[in-house]
Amino acid sequence: MTDRYCVFGNPIKHSKSPLIHGEFASQTQQAMTYTAELAPVEGFADAWRAFVAHGGRGANVTVPFKSDAFALCDTLSQRAKRAQAVNTLIVGGNGRIYGDTTDGVGLVRDLAYHRVALAGKRVLVLGAGGAVRGILEPLLAENPREVVVANRTADKAEQLAEAFADLGSIQGGGFVSVEGPFDVVINGTSASLSGELPPLPEALFAEGAWAYDMMYGSEPTVFLQWAGPQGAKLLDGLGMLVEQAAESFFLWRNVRPETASVRTLLRQSLNY
Ligand code: NDP
Repeated sequence: MTDRYCVFGNPIKHSKSPLIHGEFASQTQQAMTYTAELAPVEGFADAWRAFVAHGGRGANVTVPFKSDAFALCDTLSQRAKRAQAVNTLIVGGNGRIYGDTTDGVGLVRDLAYHRVALAGKRVLVLGAGGAVRGILEPLLAENPREVVVANRTADKAEQLAEAFADLGSIQGGGFVSVEGPFDVVINGTSASLSGELPPLPEALFAEGAWAYDMMYGSEPTVFLQWAGPQGAKLLDGLGMLVEQAAESFFLWRNVRPETASVRTLLRQSLNY
């Protein structure tokens, strides 16, 4: 039977993951399929079990199931344990389920691809949800001077800063406590999905700073539209999506796909 992989989400129709993994598979000549699977909001574990019973070897997991996926794993990577979120599931030889999170690796690789320096820099991360929990460990491993996490619900950012404090200099709080300038500002909130902008102060960007929105689409997000006129260099989350997918693919197949051509293909598919 051909090995099956998929991405679970709700909604999932617009996912670009089948396109990305289809390209990776043909590029590396892997005999596998990769589909998008809609799971019921209250029924993730059942959907996963049915998938495995029908030849599923692994899956990506997106909103709103990253915590559900975390809960059903038998074994977790260190970074998934700390993030308390899983975006990659792997069925082991003995049927045990292994969980990892590749979002953070995806972000850091995308920043490296665009030559965005992190070492010694001041980095602001907006949001304290699943995506931000997944990026903090790889981000701190790049030795920034300081990471500030700011969130609408300030408590959550404070708790995150405490949970990651042993890995580097990290502070957490509400948007009102944010004081620029920063060299890199990463929007990891889902505000862009509803066309909203977190309430951010003026003078946020240092000279030559980067503004990064983890969301991507067929036009710049509200956050990037706001940051551009202030002189920031702009990046969206499309490269992160491709790079986190490449890391998941590597975990499943032990083959590292080439990502540059897939970035180009995806950008063309978005017409932006
Ligand atoms: P979660 O639902 O876990 O977290 C959402 C976060 O956004 C919370 O911190 C929430 O604050 C904040 N938020 C929501 N609405 C607003 C608003 N109107 N103003 C300010 N803050 C707001 O989502 P995820 O962490 O899973 O995803 C966040 C974003 O990252 C999404 O846009 C997602 O598409 C993107 N993403 C991109 C990836 C990629 O590969 N490019 C990978 C993973 C995620 P509060 O705590 O106060 O509710």
